[in-house]
Amino acid sequence: MANPTNSSSRAAIVTGASRGIGAAIARRLAGDGFQVVVNYAGSAGPAAEVVEEIEKAGGRAISVQADVSDPQAVTRLFDAAEAAYGGVDVLVNNAGIMKLMPVAETDDATFDQTIAINLKGTFNGLREAARRLRDGGRIVSFSTSVVGLYQPTYGVYAATKAAVEALTHILAKELGPRGIRVNAVAPGPVATELFLKGKDEAALDRARQMIPLGRLGEAEDIARVVSLLAGPDSGWINGQVVRVNGGAV
Ligand code: NAP
Repeated sequence: MANPTNSSSRAAIVTGASRGIGAAIARRLAGDGFQVVVNYAGSAGPAAEVVEEIEKAGGRAISVQADVSDPQAVTRLFDAAEAAYGGVDVLVNNAGIMKLMPVAETDDATFDQTIAINLKGTFNGLREAARRLRDGGRIVSFSTSVVGLYQPTYGVYAATKAAVEALTHILAKELGPRGIRVNAVAPGPVATELFLKGKDEAALDRARQMIPLGRLGEAEDIARVVSLLAGPDSGWINGQVVRVNGGAV
């Protein structure tokens, strides 16, 4: 089915949208006129608050629980979006986790969980979107700027995101003939729970010093770029990884 031209009839799924970057993307896409599915795994209350905020601002949103690492849950996520909005035009594969430790200290459970959520979770979304997105749709996945930094302790996390970049380039070629654009964003350090947890002021200062613009990113800095990639003004941007990091890499 062709992508409807009326912006208020387009629908977007944002995974991991109960807080942080995903919540900012959900709010931003709703402001752009999308009907939004706010996905979460365990944080039902915060996801409901994001929906409430969007509705108060005049937008449309629903929250849907789904652990992205479970392919059947991702199928149900798309089912819920189609039932509510009649189809899906945009998938933002934002859900992710980051656990930092040297390779020597990485246990199997951490490796498996990071692969399951960051890589298989993104793959589950990409596969479902490839099957079900309306023609002319857009996919935005999440990498990280640390893919290019090779910092100690980031091994497994960066490896999952490097794989997401490979999938992005390949799926862009597979879906291009249907007018579906597939891109990724690779943020630098953004002030969310994922980045701030466990870091003291000295660690935050070191992070700021690596950034030529001299500040950490805000979730909205990333949401603005996702808005561009999900919208009509990026009509010829396809198969790209956009590094949004204040010039850090
Ligand atoms: P965050 O604040 O920790 O939020 C993560 C979100 O993902 C939450 O809404 C969480 O919801 C959801 N989530 C986690 N596991 C999930 C699962 N299995 N299924 C569905 N949802 C799940 O993280 P963030 O900083 O906003 O990060 C968002 C994305 O940006 C991630 O992919 C991350 O790798 C990437 N990124 C972040 C930074 C940064 O500095 N913050 C830098 C580069 C890249 P629940 O609580 O319900 O699980």
